[in-house]
Amino acid sequence: MGLDTIFATRIARMKASEIRELLKLLDRPGILSFAGGIPDPALFPSDAFAAAFADVLSGNKAGQALQYSVSEGYMPLRQWIVGQMAAIGVPCTVDNILITSGSQQALDYLGKLFLSPGDTALVGWPTYMGALGAFNAYEPVYDQLSVNGNRSPASYAEAAEAAGGRAKFAYLSADFANPTGETVSRAGRENLLDMAAALDIAVIEDAAYQALRYDGAPVPPVLALEIERCGGIEAARTIYCGSFSKTLSPGLRVGWVCAAKPVISQLVLMKQAADLHSATANQMAVAEVAVQCFDTHIERVRATYKARRDAMLTALTREMPEGVTWSRPEGGMFIWLTLPAALDGATLLARALEVHNLAFVPGRAFFPDGSGGNTIRLSFSCADAAMIDDGMARLGAVIREALA
Ligand code: PMP
Repeated sequence: MGLDTIFATRIARMKASEIRELLKLLDRPGILSFAGGIPDPALFPSDAFAAAFADVLSGNKAGQALQYSVSEGYMPLRQWIVGQMAAIGVPCTVDNILITSGSQQALDYLGKLFLSPGDTALVGWPTYMGALGAFNAYEPVYDQLSVNGNRSPASYAEAAEAAGGRAKFAYLSADFANPTGETVSRAGRENLLDMAAALDIAVIEDAAYQALRYDGAPVPPVLALEIERCGGIEAARTIYCGSFSKTLSPGLRVGWVCAAKPVISQLVLMKQAADLHSATANQMAVAEVAVQCFDTHIERVRATYKARRDAMLTALTREMPEGVTWSRPEGGMFIWLTLPAALDGATLLARALEVHNLAFVPGRAFFPDGSGGNTIRLSFSCADAAMIDDGMARLGAVIREALA
């Protein structure tokens, strides 16, 4: 018997992404991949984690580390995060922090918290495809978020109403976004806050890459700018999603939400219902490593990725044919290429894999409306300068062939 006829309606929106399928091909030996948006494992602070896990699993700490714990998260970790948030302009208390299993879990919970079927989520065109994946389960409609102030709040409200619901939140990665690498200016963040206030919607600030700035002046988080306006986090509509995935380790699945207490309380109820709490031992180990060496470690991570970003920008300038343009990110892991309109990123990838043993991510999957066929995402986080030189030469060759 096929059970698929009785699956819930939300399942229709939960499709395997084209990219996940393509990434399965990347285990092939010799492949030169700029596809995965993942940290370089050589940079993991593995000795510090080995010592931290040995400590939390020894003596009287083991009982706590291996036991159930509170849904809000491990208190010393929340305290450390409060210090980090203060340093970036967000004064708050531990009651404003919930530990999540990666920031991905926060995106799922926020979709669950705000979206009834037919409600509108405002997202970038393109945006992080994992956010679309998380929100899709709650059956929203997407509208294109603009932070240039060139769209009136009324036009968003009318479109949401015409779609049968209400606009509920704007989601964005303000620093070094996945996939574009771009950063929203301070003026853009202020526009966003004006628009969110006029529409009375939440702002979901995805800060997954925020700590990875290599140059340029830091722009305050959207939440910090809002707190300047409204006086304190309890009056803020911005919900900040942080993560240790790009700084310490993605495999431990530790992230956090920083928001006004009523939002945190609802998310705690969700966490109780979904998974009770994030892994206790992992939270304890992350807290130890963060306290011990976060700042020195992150300097090393930044220096490594900065050199790789520079190598990729130099190689692109040398290798790309006329008509190809790309972003110049001040941090993060990604460079976003726009190809001549006649080219298609997915077709190019098929050819790159087949002929040049080269991989990248076609951009279309990052667009809620399936546009953006002539874009591709390159990740520089896991490749050294020699691989980048070789890879960009191969990419130039594939594009030239496609243009010929
Ligand atoms: N947001 C963005 C923009 C990301 O790129 C990612 C990971 N690729 C995540 C959130 C999720 O990260 P994690 O759950 O590991 O914190």
